[in-house]
Amino acid sequence: MDVLCSRFIEVEHPDEVSELVTEGVFQSPFFILGGGSNILFTKDFAGVVVHPAFKGIEILEESQNETVIKVAAGEEWETLQQYCLERQLYGLENLIGIPGNVGSAPVQNIGAYGTEVKDCIETVEGWRLDTNAPFRFPNAECRFGYRDSVFKNELKNKCLITHVTFRLSKIERYNLKYKALADELQNRQWSPSLKNVTDCILHVRNSKLPDITRIGCAGSFFKNPLIPQQQYEQLKQEFPDLVSYPAPDGMVKLAAGQLIEKAGWKGRRLGDAGVYDKQALVIVNYGGATPEEILSVCDAVIRDVEAMFHVHIAPEVNIL
Ligand SMILES: Cc1cc2nc3c(=O)[nH]c(=O)nc-3n(C[C@H](O)[C@H](O)[C@H](O)COP(=O)(O)OP(=O)(O)OC[C@H]3O[C@@H](n4cnc5c(N)ncnc54)[C@H](O)[C@@H]3O)c2cc1C
Repeated sequence: MDVLCSRFIEVEHPDEVSELVTEGVFQSPFFILGGGSNILFTKDFAGVVVHPAFKGIEILEESQNETVIKVAAGEEWETLQQYCLERQLYGLENLIGIPGNVGSAPVQNIGAYGTEVKDCIETVEGWRLDTNAPFRFPNAECRFGYRDSVFKNELKNKCLITHVTFRLSKIERYNLKYKALADELQNRQWSPSLKNVTDCILHVRNSKLPDITRIGCAGSFFKNPLIPQQQYEQLKQEFPDLVSYPAPDGMVKLAAGQLIEKAGWKGRRLGDAGVYDKQALVIVNYGGATPEEILSVCDAVIRDVEAMFHVHIAPEVNIL
C-alpha cells in the first residue's frame, strides 16, 4: 500500500540539519527515514519525513592493525560492506546482507550471526534536534543492548545521526560461533576467509529470508524475548527443546522464531499476510496485504505465544 507524508525533505549535507531545526521542522510531527527497511507505515503520515542522503567514507586513523573510518548516515550498509571486503577490513562481515543505511545501524544496534554493530562502533555523531547542537557519543554512551540503544529510548526523536565511526581490524579474525554459519563453512569444506565467510552468510540468509524484491517484509518482525532465569527453568521443564542464549543481568534470551513456530504460526496466512514458511520471525506481504492484515497477524502471533508460554514478544519493526 502506498502512503503519503505532508512533506519530504532529503538532507544533502549534514550542515542542513541545523537549518531545519531553526526553521522549526522538528517542532511538529516528523520521522527520520533511512532506507525504510525496518518500518511498517500503516497509514499516511501527517508530518515531515526527513531523509539523510549525504554520503562519504573517510579514513580517520590507520595503523598496522586497525583502520578507523567515519561513514556518513546516507551510505547504504551494503556499500560499507563492499568497502570492507575490498580493503580486507574485519569486524562487520557477519552483518553482510542486512538492508538499510549506515545512519540507522546504531539505532537498533543491528545484529546477525553472533555479531552486533556495537562491537565495531567507536562513536556516533549527529545533531541534537531539541537543543540545535552537535553531539558525539562514544560507544559506551550509546547504551547499546540487544536491538536497542539510547536512540530508541531517552533520545528517541531528539537526535539525527549524521556519521558513525567504526574501528575495524586489519588482522584476520572471524566470529564463527553461530552454528548455521560454522556448519555451512564445514559443509563446503571451506577455510575461513572474508570472501568465504560472507558468501556463506549470504547463502544462509537467502535460504531463510524472502527475496524482498519479490515478497515484502521488514526482516525479523519480532525481537527475541528476554526472560528471568527462574521463568526459563520452569519453561524448560515443559518444553525441554527450548532454544536459549545467555543474556546480561541474569536474563535468558529465547528464540522468538521457535516460540512462534510452536504456537503454530510458521507458514500460516491471514489473507495476503502471513508468517514466512522458512523463518517464523518474519511476517510477509504476499502481494496485496493491507496494514490491518499485517497487524492482525502480528497481534495474533503475540497473543498465541503469550497464551502458550506466558512470554511476551514485542515487534522489532517500527510501526507507524
Ligand atoms: C530482509 C530484511 C532482513 C533484515 N535483517 C536484519 C538482521 O539480520 N539484523 C538486524 O538487526 N536487522 C535486520 N533487518 C532490519 C533492518 O535492515 C535494520 O533495522 C536496518 O538498520 C534498517 O535500516 P534502514 O536505513 O532501512 O532504517 P529505517 O527502517 O529507515 O529506520 C529504522 C529506524 O532508525 C531511525 N533512523 C534512521 N536513520 C536515522 C538517522 N540518521 N538518525 C536517527 N535515526 C535514524 C528511523 O527513524 C527508525 O526509527 C532486516 C530487514 C529486512 C527487510
